[in-house]
Amino acid sequence: MPEPATIVWFRQDLRLADNPALSAAADRGGPVIPVYVWAPDEEGDWAPGGAQRWWLHHSLKSLADSLESLGSRLILREGPTRDALDDLVTKTGADAVYWNRRYEPAVMERDKSIKSWLRNDRGVTANSFNSNLLFEPWQVQTQSGGPYKVYTPFWRMTQKMPEPDAPIAAPDKLTAPDSWPQSAKLDTLGLEPTRGWKDGLAAVWTPGEAEVRKRLDAFLDGPITDYQDERNFPDREGTSRLSPHLHHGEIGPRQAYQAARRYMTDGRRNLSKDDKKQVETFIKEIYWREFAYHVLYHYPDTPHEPLQEKFSKFPWEQDADQLKRWQKGQTGYPIVDAGMRQLYATGWMHNRVRMIVASFLVKDLLISWEEGAAWFWDTLVDADLASNTLGWQWAGGCGADAAPYFRIFNPVLQGEKFDKDGGYVREWVPEIAELPNKWLHRPWEASESVLKQAGVVLGKTYPEPVVDHKQARESALSALGAIKD
Ligand code: FAD
Repeated sequence: MPEPATIVWFRQDLRLADNPALSAAADRGGPVIPVYVWAPDEEGDWAPGGAQRWWLHHSLKSLADSLESLGSRLILREGPTRDALDDLVTKTGADAVYWNRRYEPAVMERDKSIKSWLRNDRGVTANSFNSNLLFEPWQVQTQSGGPYKVYTPFWRMTQKMPEPDAPIAAPDKLTAPDSWPQSAKLDTLGLEPTRGWKDGLAAVWTPGEAEVRKRLDAFLDGPITDYQDERNFPDREGTSRLSPHLHHGEIGPRQAYQAARRYMTDGRRNLSKDDKKQVETFIKEIYWREFAYHVLYHYPDTPHEPLQEKFSKFPWEQDADQLKRWQKGQTGYPIVDAGMRQLYATGWMHNRVRMIVASFLVKDLLISWEEGAAWFWDTLVDADLASNTLGWQWAGGCGADAAPYFRIFNPVLQGEKFDKDGGYVREWVPEIAELPNKWLHRPWEASESVLKQAGVVLGKTYPEPVVDHKQARESALSALGAIKD
């Protein structure tokens, strides 16, 4: 009798290596049917945004190619997921469905119901695995058994726990079924944007498991030992740029963590104490991602509700014009505009600049963090419900381990500190590139002759500042300070 097949339901784990669901299916011995079901309606308010869809299109293509190199295939289906799996179980005679867990509230709800339906109504095995985190969100607990709301004690607790599991190798063989079930064509899922936007994304990114391995190797080859020093400068290649690959699961956190850890502890490298500190800072960032998932899991309302309840009634401004100027990088503050333009053009923004633009929206314009999170959701290739929510609530001062209400970034000083030579602003705001460094981050203070020489006409070739930062800061302090009381 032929061995029964196992369906592997791929989701945010678009890789072969360190994929416990796939490896468990391969280890069972029978045919393996890899499947991806496109069902955006099942993700609640957080169906993948435009930039993520572009990434997903290419990542699925790359995964299909990798599976083919093992003599397998990727079957594509459209939702509802339950119908798709129902049909596949019937057509393939599979007696088990395996997948790796996700933690977004709507997705967890959906998965729970599918698991129970598969087991109870379809009578097949349904098993889920952890591929997406170093530790499950419920494994890290305070002394009293509760969740953490502050990163540092969370990090300290993880350091007392056993090492995260080592990543597992990709299966070297996947048994194909005698005949393959029908698959939708990738193009019919309509994931690629029709606008010219995709060209900008493709110029910067290559989705897929093979590419992220190269990216990680390149990062380990140099920047990692300067990570702590360089990571705040947006015109330098100081960070790993792993985030969209991690979000789509082309690399797992265990792989990134172990690569960094091995690098740090490999005696042959002769790393100095300072080098090790730089690498440890990178590892701590991987744990920020863990913390974001921990918070999302324990506080599932946070994508829509501030964790700190006192902020829920804050009267945010509803100013469509200012919001649009922020989105399009037309605020008149060069570092803010550079960040917003980098985001729109490439689907990614440097972390330091994410903090600056978020502070500007929430504190200078007093526009809700939810508006910012929604724009990031649509435009980031790494848009991730856990990290995006944490980042925006941090900026809004209303979340876990958040910036206090009185911490208001000064966009001029931030620009002058982290883009001192202006490389970043000149790249993304070319209409003011000829300004000397002294005025680059504050063009409205330059004299007429300096502006003229640089070919800048404020209000015409580049906007006047949308608000006066000093005044905006005072307004924010009094409005947000009132909440504190
Ligand atoms: P590196 O500096 O190389 O860090 C390595 C990895 O650690 C990252 O890929 C990421 O997975 C993780 N990491 C680093 N910083 C953070 C952080 N602050 N929070 C959580 N994880 C972190 N990150 C996302 O992945 N998706 C988002 O949607 C997202 N939205 C954000 C919104 C705001 C307002 C802010 C302030 C931050 C947001 N971040 C988000 C966190 C951070 O900006 C990005 O993870 C980082 O810029 C990605 O670049 P990198 O891969 O080069 O990071």
